[in-house]
Amino acid sequence: MKIIAALSGKGGPAPELVELEQEEPRAGEMRIRLVATGICHTDLHEHPGRHSPQPIVLGHEGAGVVDMLGEGVRGFALGDHVILSGNSCGTCQSCLAGRPTYCDLAMPLCFGAKRLDGSTALSGADGPVHSHFFGQSSFASHAIVPQRTAVKMPKDLPLEKLGPLGCGVVTGAGGVIEALKVGFGDTIAILGTGGVGLSAVMAAKLVGAKRIVAVDLSPERLELASTFGATDCLLGNEHDLAAKIRGITGRGVDFTFNTTNAPAIHTLALEVLAMNGTAGFVSAPLGPFSPQMFGMLAGGKQLRGILGGDANPQTFLPQLAEYWRQGRLPFDRMLSFYPFAEIERAFADAHAGRAIKPVLLMENPK
Ligand SMILES: [Zn+2]
Ligand SMILES: [Zn+2]
Repeated sequence: MKIIAALSGKGGPAPELVELEQEEPRAGEMRIRLVATGICHTDLHEHPGRHSPQPIVLGHEGAGVVDMLGEGVRGFALGDHVILSGNSCGTCQSCLAGRPTYCDLAMPLCFGAKRLDGSTALSGADGPVHSHFFGQSSFASHAIVPQRTAVKMPKDLPLEKLGPLGCGVVTGAGGVIEALKVGFGDTIAILGTGGVGLSAVMAAKLVGAKRIVAVDLSPERLELASTFGATDCLLGNEHDLAAKIRGITGRGVDFTFNTTNAPAIHTLALEVLAMNGTAGFVSAPLGPFSPQMFGMLAGGKQLRGILGGDANPQTFLPQLAEYWRQGRLPFDRMLSFYPFAEIERAFADAHAGRAIKPVLLMENPK
């Protein structure tokens, strides 16, 4: 079938819309007619070519409608509304334990941009095009997805808003709720308030954290963070930032959640912890970083990497959608919508920080 997709690998500033040939879903796969797709920083980083092979169709926050079922797919029907999350094997120890973001095959299944047998679902005038990015490649009118990638959503929710739940929102909200298990009366500092950090702020409020400290270089983002529940907002370049954060409670915070890749902020994230605190991070430091090991030992502190919010998408994403319905996770306030044809403007706005979470509309919302 002919589809419209945004192709990366030609050297431009953003993926370019082209017509590609897409094969039908194989066993265990479905075809999704996409309604909308969020743009995540991983897409921006992969567009020039980083981990994944090219030419490739990126996109990994898809939302759409089940359009065709491959052989053996169970639990889905034509017309179901779904959002797409990461891909996983379903049979390794991590998958069986309900932690599919740490699937033994996560790298080849999310960044390999092909099936494990080496095949892709797409081809263009110059030959095969890489598909199956995060099991989706959702910068397209249609995507062929393994059924494990798809999570069913209630049909009465606005599908065009739900895609970011699959990566950006779950990374922040899952990080706080599932990974760090922040609870009632706890204190947390959220370092970097982009889409992931703001989702973490909303989740920290949801679970009843007592103090929610937001840190960012942008006063506008901090303003937004305070409307989402941050109790204390600090600029990231403030003098004596660590002392100021520690001073809020007098003894440091129970948790930090670091969404930045700045080595100095990774150092700060450990420094501001209270005794027995945990520093969660979702992005590796871009440069040398030496944790202060004696401080960690003497304070019983932990440093904890977190992927995809530790969440099991099949159970956790419907839960997040329900919190949104109740008005307790208003993530849609971070979204900016763009017609699919304006992907270049959406990429530029994401790069420049003008849009927190751009969402491409493949169809007009009904
Ligand atoms: Zn992402
Ligand atoms: Zn697995």
